[in-house]
Amino acid sequence: MKIILSILFIFIVSTSSLQADEKVDLINLYKELHANPELSFKEERTSKKLANILKGLGLEVTENFGGYGVVALLKNGEGKTIMLRADMDGLPVEELTGAPYASRTKSINQVGDEVFTMHACGHDIHMTSLIGTVINLLEKKDKWQGTLMINLQPAEEVSGGARNMIKEGIFEKFPRPDFNLAFHVSADLPAGKVGYVPGWAMANVDSMDITIKGVGGHGAYPHTTKDPIVMASQLINNLQTIVSREIAPIEAAVVTVGSIHGGTKHNVIPSEVRLQLTLRSYTDEVRNQTISTIRRMARGLAEANGLSKESYPEITLKDEYTPALFNNPELTEKVRTSFESALGKENVLKLSPVMGGEDFGMYGRVEPIIPTALFWLGAVNKKVYDTSLRENIGLPSLHSAYFLPDPEPTISTGVKAMSTAIIDLYQN
Ligand SMILES: [Zn+2]
Ligand SMILES: [Zn+2]
Repeated sequence: MKIILSILFIFIVSTSSLQADEKVDLINLYKELHANPELSFKEERTSKKLANILKGLGLEVTENFGGYGVVALLKNGEGKTIMLRADMDGLPVEELTGAPYASRTKSINQVGDEVFTMHACGHDIHMTSLIGTVINLLEKKDKWQGTLMINLQPAEEVSGGARNMIKEGIFEKFPRPDFNLAFHVSADLPAGKVGYVPGWAMANVDSMDITIKGVGGHGAYPHTTKDPIVMASQLINNLQTIVSREIAPIEAAVVTVGSIHGGTKHNVIPSEVRLQLTLRSYTDEVRNQTISTIRRMARGLAEANGLSKESYPEITLKDEYTPALFNNPELTEKVRTSFESALGKENVLKLSPVMGGEDFGMYGRVEPIIPTALFWLGAVNKKVYDTSLRENIGLPSLHSAYFLPDPEPTISTGVKAMSTAIIDLYQN
């Protein structure tokens, strides 16, 4: 309890630029961030607030880097450089948690509609834990030497943020990191526990649009049309055989058609149907095989239905590709040992890879490769977790309107684990 109190509530930070009696109350900061989420590429207030806190703590702060990104340096003598990243964006979800600090914020989305906005992916926990870790490392300045590089990244959810930070030159304009680290909250782990996945941990994510073109007409005269609704059904069924019949059974892949739109009325055959797909894979080979097979099947469908070349399905692979996340096994192992010393062995769990995506993996793909690893931070209230096990009720997932982290134990665990790991990495 003493540790929790000292970490969470009363940060008395004595640095040159912050008065000794100034405090950063992490739980208040968390609640404020939670109640005021901003959508991807619109993190203006969030980034300003955090930049000001970091300036107050004495860091060298660069704002508006790759959008609303913030890069801050905590220099503490000669030594390694370690990058710690937190993402800042919320999601277009209406919060239904009922928490007193629940978000009622609305924002304008990419197509101009006003939507409710929520930190449904726990990025508010990431930001708060990161600030807590900075404060902790400032308090323990005599225990490490080197440079801590803070990366507050915009737009993780639409997969442009990491790409922009890299393009803008995060690894050229600032000291190049020896290691890249991050946490992501877990909606399946209780607060107090952390998880690690050595090697491949999160999947390649691609978004694809397919427009199936036909020849519209009267619903009672189908022989005079080329029905794109029937063609879409054929294609969707064919696509299901990619994973079951084309990809090697030991490889991981997902083909999901998440949206289908076509037609206006019972008795009108429309002239097109639009599909939106999410594609998941781990290796480049499986990714390429999935994409080329979809193209082949779409072409085949058009030919089978007697369409002319101009009416072949239009396929657009969106440029919001997120590459798979590879956790450097040696770095993961080192950090695991530190986590165990900070939290106890029973609180550090080896987890399986998932087909979710995270653009943090991009930082580990820039040549020459920087060892990179992301860890899971348990966020579920212990009582809620125990009840879900006992009564076999599912927990709200990330991105759910009901996802509500338990802030105090989650943030204190994140701060303690990450600070220990960073200090150990500077020392070894
Ligand atoms: Zn997310
Ligand atoms: Zn996320």
